[in-house]
Amino acid sequence: MSFKSSWKEECGVFGIWNHPEAAKLTYLGLYALQHRGQESAGIVTLDTTDSKQLHRVHKGLGLVPDVFNESILQGLPGSAAIGHVRYATTGGNLIANAQPLTSNLLSGPLAVAHNGNIVNSSILREALQREGAIFQGTNDTEILLHLLAKNPSNHLVSALKESLKDLTGAYSLVILAHDRMIAARDPLGFRPLVLGQIKTSMSVSYVVASETCALDLIGAQFVREIEPGEILEISSEGILSEHLPALENRGSRKSAQCVFEHVYFSRPDSVVFGKSVYNSRKRFGEELALESPVEADIVIPVPDSGVPSAIGYSQKSGIPFEFGIIRNHYIGRTFIQPSQSVRDIGVKIKLNPQPDVLKGKRVIVIDDSLVRGTTSQNIINLIRQAGAKEVHLRIASPPTTGPCYYGVDTPQKSQLIASHQSLENIRQFIGADSLAYLSDAGMWKALKSGPESFCAACFNGDYPTSLKGVENKKNKENTSPKNI
Ligand code: SF4
Repeated sequence: MSFKSSWKEECGVFGIWNHPEAAKLTYLGLYALQHRGQESAGIVTLDTTDSKQLHRVHKGLGLVPDVFNESILQGLPGSAAIGHVRYATTGGNLIANAQPLTSNLLSGPLAVAHNGNIVNSSILREALQREGAIFQGTNDTEILLHLLAKNPSNHLVSALKESLKDLTGAYSLVILAHDRMIAARDPLGFRPLVLGQIKTSMSVSYVVASETCALDLIGAQFVREIEPGEILEISSEGILSEHLPALENRGSRKSAQCVFEHVYFSRPDSVVFGKSVYNSRKRFGEELALESPVEADIVIPVPDSGVPSAIGYSQKSGIPFEFGIIRNHYIGRTFIQPSQSVRDIGVKIKLNPQPDVLKGKRVIVIDDSLVRGTTSQNIINLIRQAGAKEVHLRIASPPTTGPCYYGVDTPQKSQLIASHQSLENIRQFIGADSLAYLSDAGMWKALKSGPESFCAACFNGDYPTSLKGVENKKNKENTSPKNI
């Protein structure tokens, strides 16, 4: 993915049922999903070696390999596990917010891993607190645990169905109980969730993951997507599927799958919402070449997420593709920055332009999206310093004009440059010779789909749910270190 200072991934979830190395495969699954969250990681296993079927838990702040090692994984026995990697969309980067969240309900131990964001969580939280609920952290997922705890049914799926009806927003969930694993997706299906399996002659293991790249790594076969609104129950008795009631007032909208998963979040080697992310990005580039051609010598990507779109642009336009900027993949999360004398270090530490490729050239630069404009400004500046004669920026998605309320950490609307500046003003600000975005129509054409199946609210302002509670939530979270 490219170097975005202000548009962060959400979370990744993983679950496995009936495998002798459940913790190790969950570790690998989380490794494959690391791009979806780098602030905390956690695994909960169902210890089937213990007659009490207890949950074993390990969570920590940092990257997956920082949080786990061989001996920690050995301390997580059992044939079922769920895991989570987190970017703090709600509630700040506290260990209390690291997932999976665990609790002991009347029905037994329960662990929950959640990707998404509950729009009305501030309203639900306040109502629960008035009834006496005590919250450990500040994230949305704890609300679901409280709703489940107070539900009178001792049938977990019935209680879950009832509880989920109160939630508005985005959730892809993996839940581990003492005798079953449950996967669920909100009725509009904002975030991806897929089912896979590992079959041997003796047994079948079931796997649930945010993206298919996690299945690939552990050698699991893709079975199908968990459908929007589906609750899938996996136990020793097999698999049962139920659906939440369809939402009222959804009009012609079939689902609201996040189109930004194809633009930027998901890995290009994943198949998301039934489509190859790599192919989508390549086709965005092809459409962009048709819509906004310009005479130039080379096409270069902003690595990594700009690469497939730059290949598409190059192939469609016939202008040669080059790696004009090399990305350093080995930087840690923090580095010591000199206070003076080294300019543009924030960008240079990740992206290094190649004068041998760029000098004297008319360059088309392809990036996946443009948020505040400051990163593009820095990149264009570096490309010019490397000797480029002209720099033409092409963005492989429409202008981002609104924030996300469904699990993606975005700047406020006022900080999204396209929400209040004309194309020409943005061009001048970033210092490009020309600037063009992919059109809405071009994006749908490339996806071979339409807005009735997707959420594209950050591009078109058409939010698929009520936003009641959002203002409350923002005001409360303004006291925490990270806000949506
Ligand atoms: S608002 Fe944008 S980022 Fe958020 S779910 Fe919709 S398309 Fe995805």
